[in-house]
Amino acid sequence: MHVTFYGVRGSVPAPGPQTARYGGNTSCVEVQLADGTTLALDAGTGLRTLGNKLVREGRQSQVHLLLSHTHWDHVLGLPFFAPLWDKANHIIVYPLANDAQERFQRNIFDDIHFPVSVNDIPAKLELAKPSSAPWRIGSALVRPVQLNHPGGAQGFRIDDDDGSSLAYLTDNELNAASAVIGPDALARFSEGVDLLIHDSQYVLSDMPHKLGWGHSIVDDVLKLGVLAQPKRLALFHHDPDRTDDALDALGERSRLWLAEKAPSVDLVVASEGLDFTLSGR
Ligand SMILES: [Zn+2]
Ligand SMILES: [Zn+2]
Repeated sequence: MHVTFYGVRGSVPAPGPQTARYGGNTSCVEVQLADGTTLALDAGTGLRTLGNKLVREGRQSQVHLLLSHTHWDHVLGLPFFAPLWDKANHIIVYPLANDAQERFQRNIFDDIHFPVSVNDIPAKLELAKPSSAPWRIGSALVRPVQLNHPGGAQGFRIDDDDGSSLAYLTDNELNAASAVIGPDALARFSEGVDLLIHDSQYVLSDMPHKLGWGHSIVDDVLKLGVLAQPKRLALFHHDPDRTDDALDALGERSRLWLAEKAPSVDLVVASEGLDFTLSGR
């Protein structure tokens, strides 16, 4: 499995000189499975760059898009995803929280928020709803999990037939007051994966103001890393106001903490263009 980050920011795009190194695009991660199948995790503004690359490389004919939920920062790139605009292509969108499947058609491609309506998209746009989980995409098994987020969100665990594995958990508030899932259950869900990507939007000084907003404090994400023991833990969905220098410092502090509590877990702060080949155990 090969994984590449195209958008790592949360809430709203944050371009500018102070965010240029980690990147200002919102959530989008490409997963290329062992059999060559292409998955996109979320359709934030990073999806535009991914789409252009897929077209350049001739890999656009079938793309599986897994959406965590339909908040703007996770769908804003969709109208600008180049493979949508060619009738030879087939885009399969996977299950959305609550009634979001309908929202997707009603609120994005509705002639109001974007000039083209859903029925006029040239590509075949299929809204898939697997009847049971886990379900299969290409060479991988995909398992969804409900997360703690206002309006609902889903995380995914992807286990490829070559033994490599990934968990994508955003947007999620670990230790939320009205949690649908606790850290222990999430640790079991993502146990031992090669790469665990988790929402890390806040730091302790953001609290208590942002309690209940549906995102996690970095300290709680590190504790999840200790419980889940992934090979690599990626801090993700950075706050739009977190500068590159602040993210450098956050990464350094997190690395030192993990080196003591879970020395086998590598810590990375996700940035645009960062990529990994996951090899399994
Ligand atoms: Zn978000
Ligand atoms: Zn959200």
